Amino acid sequence: MNAETSVLRINQEGYTEGLPVSAAVLADGPVILRNAAGETVRTFSVAPPETDPASGDKVTLLDLGLLEAGDYELQAGAVRRRFAVRSQAWNSVTHALLKGLYYQRCGCELDPVHAGQYSHPACHTAPAMDWEDRSIRRRVTGGWHDAGDYGKYVGPGAVTVGHLLYAWKLFPRGCSDPLNIPESGNGVPDILNEARYELEWLLQMQRSDGAFHHKLTKDHFAPFIMPQDDLDPEYLMPVGWCATADACACLALAFRVYRSFDEAFANRMLLSARRAWDWLQANPDFKPYVNPEGVRTGWYGCRSDADDRFWAACELFAATGEKQFRESAEKLYASGLQITQFGWAEVAGMGALCCLFDLKEAAGEILWTRLREDFISRCEDILVLSRASGYGTALAPDGYVWGSILPIMGGAMAMIMAALLTGRQDMRNAALLQWHYALGMNALDLCFVTGCGERPVMHPHHRPSGADSIDAPVPGLISGGPNNKICFPQTREKLGENVPPAKYFLDETPSADTNEIAIYWNSPAVFVGAYFNLPPLC
Ligand SMILES: [Zn+2]
Repeated sequence: MNAETSVLRINQEGYTEGLPVSAAVLADGPVILRNAAGETVRTFSVAPPETDPASGDKVTLLDLGLLEAGDYELQAGAVRRRFAVRSQAWNSVTHALLKGLYYQRCGCELDPVHAGQYSHPACHTAPAMDWEDRSIRRRVTGGWHDAGDYGKYVGPGAVTVGHLLYAWKLFPRGCSDPLNIPESGNGVPDILNEARYELEWLLQMQRSDGAFHHKLTKDHFAPFIMPQDDLDPEYLMPVGWCATADACACLALAFRVYRSFDEAFANRMLLSARRAWDWLQANPDFKPYVNPEGVRTGWYGCRSDADDRFWAACELFAATGEKQFRESAEKLYASGLQITQFGWAEVAGMGALCCLFDLKEAAGEILWTRLREDFISRCEDILVLSRASGYGTALAPDGYVWGSILPIMGGAMAMIMAALLTGRQDMRNAALLQWHYALGMNALDLCFVTGCGERPVMHPHHRPSGADSIDAPVPGLISGGPNNKICFPQTREKLGENVPPAKYFLDETPSADTNEIAIYWNSPAVFVGAYFNLPPLC
């Protein structure tokens, strides 16, 4: 990778024909656009650049308009940068992000046919112990390793599957290519085959009373070893309210998706979702999950389960048509929810997806008409954030948290939904700028997806990538990106206090705080990529 950043920042995976082409320019003077024949297509006079508050860069966001398919070159002063415009330019990166989840599979061999040089023997196959009752041992296998570590967490896993299933429901043509995974060719789209690997694990995480264990992890994070060498015992950690509601929602949604492919599997999921809901009804008083003493793996704690219950109620209403679920969803919506949030901590946006794109009028006055207005109004705020940024990034300067890629991809999801609901091109184009951010049009001149773009992340905080003795990291994993909020002391030591938030990043393996990967960061990017793989809808 070229260590030097360019004054011309582009989507390093190129651009899709029929969508506006944007580039960020960190220079004064004219910018020349040439075609493959070297002819000048257009010369842009760049106004004196303004300072981008999140990065401190003096940058101009250039709209190059709609370009015909072909190869192009941008020139600013002596600097030139090439890019291509093609149909479905982002098909490969979208599918790489899906294949990235296959590489996270736990409990099975990743064989050389499907994993190439990243193959490894099966991992984490020993029976797990119940943390609270060590006499209980259960074989719980499968699922995806959550992130850079080898833990498996119910809430984050459920949300990840939710993103994938909605990507497939809404934009099937943008995310249904074969992935070269063991199930390929079985008549089911591979995105659903891959999601099922997690769903089968989720079903095993349910306790006999209907509640879901919060997670299946060791009591500490493994060192940087390969997963098959991580042999310490795994524990079924205590059950959790958010985990139970998120699993309930995800399984009810999956019932609708898989019904036409495998009815028995779909029915098993709906039954599990109903039992989870019954447990939630019998246990109305939320208790936040806390790690038991002596457990130091991921916390994934929440302050409330209202958003999780809301998503579950919406999905159960969509799955069954039973009014009790709509009434529950209406009550929970009235409690005030962040309906444009799609991450593991706030899942109300997933319920909004269900209401606005599946239930529609059937959701009723409150969950269709009112929620729609509320949703679009909140998207205006996301649009304002994008316009305030020199790169068009819909994140306030103080919003660069651990995993800042999540609110950025979540903002893109929300604006895509707003564009589909209203036909507004400004929403669609702002969503597109978030995709460009992820793939290189950013203050670091970095493509955050491993194995993609000219300057990809090379040293993600990801145990197999760090332990496999292969130079290139496991491909198709998206980095969390800049974070100046909660940082490791060694990150502070290296970057100090004066590096701006959008540049608070280290492409170094130990930097989990800025450069970890996570399944639930890949999945919203799949949603966004799947949408932009389609011809523009508005
Ligand atoms: Zn494993």
